[in-house]
Parts: sequence; C-alpha cells; structure tokens
Amino acid sequence: MPNKKQKLKIFQTPRGTHDILPQDQKYWDRIRTVSQTLASYYGFERIDTPHLESTDLFLHTVGPTSDIVEKQMYSFKTRGGDALTLRPEGTAPIARSYIENGFLNLPQPVKLYYRGSFFRHESPQRGRYREFHQWGLELLGEESAIADAEIFQVCSLFLSELGLKDILFYVNSVGCRECRPKYRSALSGYYRSRVRGLCKDCKRRYKDNPLRLLDCKEEKCVTVKKSAPQILDHLCEACKNHFTVLLEFLDEIGVAYMLNPYLVRGLDYYSRTVFEIASTYVAASEPEVAREALPSINAENRNAGDEKKEEDEEENVVTEVPIKEEKAGKEPLALGGGGRYDYLVELLGGRPTPGVGMALGMERLAYAMKQQQVKIPASSRQKLFFVHLGELAKKKSFKIIEMLRRANIAIAESLGKDSIKSQLKLADRAASEYALILGQKEAIDGTVIIREMSSGTQETVLQEKLIEILKQKLRR
Ligand SMILES: [Zn+2]
Ligand SMILES: [Zn+2]
Repeated sequence: MPNKKQKLKIFQTPRGTHDILPQDQKYWDRIRTVSQTLASYYGFERIDTPHLESTDLFLHTVGPTSDIVEKQMYSFKTRGGDALTLRPEGTAPIARSYIENGFLNLPQPVKLYYRGSFFRHESPQRGRYREFHQWGLELLGEESAIADAEIFQVCSLFLSELGLKDILFYVNSVGCRECRPKYRSALSGYYRSRVRGLCKDCKRRYKDNPLRLLDCKEEKCVTVKKSAPQILDHLCEACKNHFTVLLEFLDEIGVAYMLNPYLVRGLDYYSRTVFEIASTYVAASEPEVAREALPSINAENRNAGDEKKEEDEEENVVTEVPIKEEKAGKEPLALGGGGRYDYLVELLGGRPTPGVGMALGMERLAYAMKQQQVKIPASSRQKLFFVHLGELAKKKSFKIIEMLRRANIAIAESLGKDSIKSQLKLADRAASEYALILGQKEAIDGTVIIREMSSGTQETVLQEKLIEILKQKLRR
C-alpha cells in the first residue's frame, strides 16, 4: 500500500509515443484499407518482419554516418549478449528477409508491402513520434525505371484515393558506383575552402560523408549549399538515361513532381532515384493533433535524477523548434519518401539484386487528413443503430444483433441506455441512416420497426424478413 503522503505517480505515454484513440481510428482504418486494397491490386504481397533485428543489419545498410545510426537507434544488448535494435526503418529488414527466405528463386520482381511500428529517438515535433507507423512498398529484382514509376504510381494513387490534395513529389538521382564517387569529389572540392563556415555536424560530415552535407538544415550550411555542384551534372550515361525515362513515365502518369538536385536522403543504401513526398496544403488553422504532438513536459510526474539529463537536453531541442514558430501548417508537411537501392541486397551478402521502394508515415497521413478535413466514407456500422424499449425487448436484443452479425450487417447499439430519446439521439449523432426499434409489442409479435432517420418514416417488418429487407435498403 502506498503511503498516504506519497503522491501517486501519474503514468503517461513515454515521450514521443502516443495512444491512437477511438475517435481517430477512422483515419487509421481508412489508411489501412486504401493502402491494402491498392497494394494488392498492383500485385504487392504483405510481409511482416520482426520489430527487433540485429544491430549490424542497420550499421551495414543504413550506414554508420547516417543520422539514424549516429543518434536515433534504440539499441541494446540482450541477456544472451546479442546486439539488437528496434527497427528504425523497413527496407533493410525486407532485404534481409529476401535473402534469408530465398526470394530470389521466385519469379522476379518480388513485390511486397508492409505496415507497422518503427522507432527512432528523435525530438518529437508536429506529427513526428519516436514510435511511429509506416506503410511501405518494396519492389525487388527489377532494374528498369518502370519499377520506379510503378512505386510513384501506387503512392500517388493512394494519396489521391485517401482524399489528400496538394501533393508534391521531390525527385532526384544520386547516381551509381560509377558516377557518385566523381560527384563526391567535386562536392568535397567545393566545400574544401568553405568548411570553416559550416556547423559542427557538417565539419564531421565533410570528412566522413560529404553527400550528407546536403541534408543539413542549419541556415549557414543551407546558404553554402546554394551554389554547390549538382549531381545531375555528374551522372554517367546509364544513370542519366534511367532518370530521364523515369521522368517521362511521371509525365505520362501525371504525377506532380519537382526536381530537387540536392535531395540525397539520409540513408547510404540509395542509388539512382530518390524522392520525398510532401503535402503543400496550407491550412487556415491547425487541427487538434498539433497539440497532441507537442511533447508534454510535466516534470512533476517524471522521476528526477537519471532522467534529468535527458530532459534538459530535450527541452533544448524542443525550444529550438517550437511548433508555433515553425509557422504551423505553412511549411510543407513531409509524408514520406523512398528510392532505389540497387546495392542493398549485395551489401547484405545476397546475389546483386536491384530494388526500389517507398514508405509513408501513417501519423503524418492521419494528420494531413485532419488538416485537409478529408471526408471519410461512412462505414456500414454507422448506417444502422439498434434501439430497444422495455425489459423484454432488451432481453431479445442480443438475438437480433447476432442475427445481423451472421448476415454480415454491422450495427451500432447502446444497450446500456434505456430511454428511447437518448438512444435516438445517439443514432442521430452517429449519422445513422436507419434505426431498428424493438419495443415490448414487437418483441412479443416477433417484429421490428425500421425507421428512416432523415424522414422519420417507419415500417414494421417480421424479424425473419429483416435481413432480406435491410440488404435491399443498404444496397441503395
Ligand atoms: Zn551512374
Ligand atoms: Zn550543417
């Protein structure tokens, strides 16, 4: 028993994680349904990989100088002494699975889609979490640009099917083994005399991985970047051709894109095509979710001591980019990205296999849907509401509801409420098309009343005819 004087600790979600509440599930359901339907239609099969992978998997692929490996991985030693990491991204695990399960013996390309939680230790911001959800596509075993175009196509169809407007793809090519080293040295050459004016991180990047200099968001580094050499001027013939063909496909499909010659993406395994997807929609005001995304700083409920240091460090990060000053809603909202990874399978010891893929952040998608006030088609559950009156009717309720379930007709109810007024109010609030009303008389007669909510017209039908009649009504 806790001491009365001792204040009970109030538990909260760990920083950067969140509950997806019932009222938001409609957005998530919609994202899941649309992505699944489209991916299946285009021949992508579902794959699930574990949340835990060997730490080395990401060191070898994402790259030791990437932000992910340098600062963001949740890595730990198990009791057995294995070094494991909570997956920070989805592509390396799928390449691992491709090799491990001998997918290269299947007809190529192998087309996969996935969905789930990923983990990165980042400072929480608008729509950005430490445990976040993504859904993604991977297409392995096809080198030609049509594979890249297919990824763009499904991604773009998905976003418009979801009801999102103002979507823009930022596209670039990062070249191949032949041309990238040449560009890298041109870049080093350019930065050599300018390195003193860069931020601390970039001074290090200049030595370790000059391409990543282009990722920096610090103002002084962005200024230097403006006249840096562009990779598109350094592509070899094969890469130039690949990129041209892709852009022709994109014109054909009608995907809105913009070239961004400095887009390199943080991961080492990309080759040729890289892209990012953003919503450029400008909202009059931010949706509710903005406040949720703000990290809650409630020192009282946190253990002092060991968490103190982390908290200090994070408060600083948070004050650096407060949501208000980020001109909430005015900056493009990053939804996801992707690219080609022709060396990834080989990096993991498999037979050289080209690949291309993309991932979209589900929190970002849900946020954009709210921001753009996307209408979600009513689920069948919302079409019917069950209303009961009196004790006998209440007892018979389950029988009728079960009859509907077997016929695969969804219905909402509020069996805990006895007053017809409050039940009808709920039916109204749920925007139900029909209420099924079961009163004392109907329970005895074996009938039920179907009430059309919009007009208030009612008809009494026999319970054994109910399914048949409802199916007709709902089909309309
Ligand atoms: Zn090349
Ligand atoms: Zn910098």
